Amino acid sequence: MNRLRDRMSMKQQSALLTALLSILVVAAMTLATAVLIRDRAMESAKAEMQDLAQAMADRLDQEMFERFREIGNFASLHPLHDSWDSDRDGIRRLLDQLQTTLPRYAWIGYASLDGVVQASTRGTLEGVSVAERPWFIDALQAPSALDLHEAKLLADVLGPSEDGEPFRFVDVAAPVRDASGNVTGVLGAHLSWSWAQSVRSYLLGSLEPRLRTDLWVTASDGNAILGAPFGQPVLSQQQLQLAEQTYIGGEGDATYLAAAVATKGYESYPGLGWIVIAKRPMAVVLADANRFILAIILIGTFAALAGIGAAFLIAGRVTRPLNRLTADADRLGREEEIVAFGRQRGSSDILQLSNSLRSLMRRVDAAESDATEARDLMQQSERAYSVKTLEHLETVRTLRLLADTDPMTGLLNRRSFLGDAKDVLAFFRRYESKFAILMIDIDNFKHVNDTHGHAVGDEVIRTIGRVLAEAARQTDRVARFGGEEFVVLLREVDEAALTSWAERMRSAVQMATVTTPAGAVGVTVSVGATLVSPGDRDIEDVLHRADLALYRSKSNGRNRMTISQGPEAAGQPA
Ligand code: GH3
Ligand code: MG
Ligand code: MG
Repeated sequence: MNRLRDRMSMKQQSALLTALLSILVVAAMTLATAVLIRDRAMESAKAEMQDLAQAMADRLDQEMFERFREIGNFASLHPLHDSWDSDRDGIRRLLDQLQTTLPRYAWIGYASLDGVVQASTRGTLEGVSVAERPWFIDALQAPSALDLHEAKLLADVLGPSEDGEPFRFVDVAAPVRDASGNVTGVLGAHLSWSWAQSVRSYLLGSLEPRLRTDLWVTASDGNAILGAPFGQPVLSQQQLQLAEQTYIGGEGDATYLAAAVATKGYESYPGLGWIVIAKRPMAVVLADANRFILAIILIGTFAALAGIGAAFLIAGRVTRPLNRLTADADRLGREEEIVAFGRQRGSSDILQLSNSLRSLMRRVDAAESDATEARDLMQQSERAYSVKTLEHLETVRTLRLLADTDPMTGLLNRRSFLGDAKDVLAFFRRYESKFAILMIDIDNFKHVNDTHGHAVGDEVIRTIGRVLAEAARQTDRVARFGGEEFVVLLREVDEAALTSWAERMRSAVQMATVTTPAGAVGVTVSVGATLVSPGDRDIEDVLHRADLALYRSKSNGRNRMTISQGPEAAGQPA
């Protein structure tokens, strides 16, 4: 695991981590929402199915109760007491009228005690015996309702039905009594089952067709009497025992959610034990929820991808300066132009690291120079003792001078500058005579190189060096620290003076024009300046602070100067 981590770049690692995290978050979010949304969809569909089944059951009960009461009332009408057996024509006319007001009466008839039909709507079945029909037998005792059955005696009279299905009826019947209360016969009515069909159509018609809702009615044995093919078992024995429930039925694509509600009768109508079932395909119940979940997955995936992309970008931005530092470290000491770590930006950590590396290199450099100088001096004194000629002393002086100057600009080089700076720092410690360091870097110098070539670049460096040297006082020190970076040491300055000196150096460069074979080139510099402070451990601390101030000038837009606010602001230990 560790070896794998070492092989992967920070960019890859962070992208991978973000990808994993995103996938996890999206998966968890989707799962939670899916469970929640599907639950909600199921609950509301259940309630809707229950309401629908209840509405259908209520309508069936209500209608049956009304017919039941109507026939009962009709059978016991006082004015008719004497007419039932004596005025058949009158009775027939009344029955016909009753049928006209409510066409769902398929047949109404009066049978005398012996079971023979005496008067009926349109005279149908008159003279025929219904003594064996259950409605007749039951109604001799009390008003009765009889469950759905096919037309027996009426089938021949009615002929074939439109849909080829046999005519089916529900019977309601009531005993007919004379003035003294004795039963003289039975008034019976066949209600065409089509009224239940129209109630069903009416209720379903108020629902959106896309919801594909269905309504079934079963007899008390669980076999269909409406909606599904007649007689088909719709409710299992177990489901029958659990009436008033919602359940999931069917299989595979035909799975549906259903609610069953039992009819209970109404007032004097005892009910026939019918059960109403409202059902809706599961696919429809969950369709909206599934669409929602899909949308969440899509949005989540998109967010995850965006997150991974952002992680890549951020990781790239974070690691780019690190990679540059690595490249610098690789080239340092191998290529002449690379004399220090580049100043890297991007985050405070990187800035700190880059500055610390630059400072480290300067200290290494200084130590190395000190050693070289000591060796040189030893050799020189050896030589001075052995060949004490004036000529040789002159040569030694020239050599010293050469070793102290930057060959390109003739300014001090880093080594000799640091030697002088150390003396000035010692002077400050002793006499509190303040000094300041300016760090100066040419702006966008790569661009000069790229557009005019390296030779012109060199010329620009030389000219700027000259301009800076001319702007400084005799007692100040101007050095080139390599590249296009200059350092100025100003003696005897306070804060106010430092500001004007830094500004003076900056504007001197801006005002100068560099004449080159390619024409006049205008360049600017950014300046970072700082006063020495009693807390500075060595000259590197002062340089470090000036370097940070220079960085701020660069990031604030270049061609400007920044005065450091002291050791704390530079993030130096106090
Ligand atoms: P910035 O404003 O951020 O300082 O932009 P810059 O382009 O100046 O960036 P930077 O200071 O990092 O790059 C300095 C470049 O100067 C890199 C190097 O190619 C070029 N350079 C360094 N030393 C010399 C030199 O002696 N002669 C020439 N011609 N180019 C040099
Ligand atoms: Mg530069
Ligand atoms: Mg530079």
